[in-house]
Amino acid sequence: MSQVKPDVLVAGGGGFIGGHLAGDLLRQGVRVRAVDSKPLSEWDQVHPEAENVIGDLSSLPTARTAVSGVGQVYNLAADMGGIGFIESNRTVCMLSVLTSTHVLLASRDEGVERYFYASSACVYAAEKQSRSDVAALRESDAYPADPEDGYGWEKLFSERICRHFAEDFGIGTRVARYHNIYGSHGTWDGGREKAPAAICRKVATAAITGDHEIEIWGDGKQTRSFTYIDDCVYGTQLIMAGESADPVNLGSSELVSINRLVDLVEEIAGIRTERTYLPAAPQGVRGRNSDNTAILATYDWQPSTPLIDGLERTYRWVYDQVKSRIE
Ligand code: NAD
Repeated sequence: MSQVKPDVLVAGGGGFIGGHLAGDLLRQGVRVRAVDSKPLSEWDQVHPEAENVIGDLSSLPTARTAVSGVGQVYNLAADMGGIGFIESNRTVCMLSVLTSTHVLLASRDEGVERYFYASSACVYAAEKQSRSDVAALRESDAYPADPEDGYGWEKLFSERICRHFAEDFGIGTRVARYHNIYGSHGTWDGGREKAPAAICRKVATAAITGDHEIEIWGDGKQTRSFTYIDDCVYGTQLIMAGESADPVNLGSSELVSINRLVDLVEEIAGIRTERTYLPAAPQGVRGRNSDNTAILATYDWQPSTPLIDGLERTYRWVYDQVKSRIE
């Protein structure tokens, strides 16, 4: 590692959100160390101005080296993906507990002032998400605990251990529960992609090839809210700088069905697709939305990028990826 001490560690800096966050911090003049277990050639974004390190943070010695000398840690490192991935890789998802715990332990031992943990709406209890016209989820709805099996249990445990590290050791932990983050420079194929990127890819492929048949997982009536990456990056730093250690939703409250999401992408692409519904495909909970009362009360801010605007930018990027692959 270099002799110039970075100010901030972005753990998982080779991933989608980590790449955007590192870029934004660098633009503000912050010195960033980005650490990720993937080879550099697979990072979603590589910022040459950052100290870019390949390392597996599930190992405590590697986590200690990664944290060494930094004042703040954003921990975004986790083995994750869309519902298709997390439903069939529960053990892999739960093993991220080693990364979450070791980065936190190393942060405490190295005297890190602030530690941010990227939790998820997957911590919320299943019974609160059984209808399409779901009531938006408040932070208290995570208990009594019945989170997404595998991935959600790891997230709930890891946000809970942040709380106890804050209480027992005085480390300034901050936790956000992300709701479906989407945007450019993220996974758009290969099995880990989430719904917005997958739908953009399917519609872009239809637009480019002229074959307008696309597959939709489930009946398309399941609902979600989707949060644009710029809002995520801004909100993450706001929460890091704030005074509350309580987990808080970082999510859009613009609830749409998957069918509506497809309508919007088709509108952007200027085509109509023929949809085949796959009722047996993974689809997760029936409905999920973010209640933003807490983030508004604490930070006087909430994600506000309209879905159509974020999708427009995301579709253009995914379209270019699909086109360069097909041609
Ligand atoms: P991502 O998969 O693009 O990025 C995560 C990165 O962490 C990957 O590049 C991966 O290689 C890296 N990583 C995994 N294990 C590691 C290890 N042991 N050591 C070093 N690096 C490791 O995912 P993302 O969408 O950028 O998500 C970032 C964080 O936000 C994750 O913790 C994720 O669970 C959380 N989150 C994301 C969303 C979303 O919609 N994208 C929603 C809820 C929560």
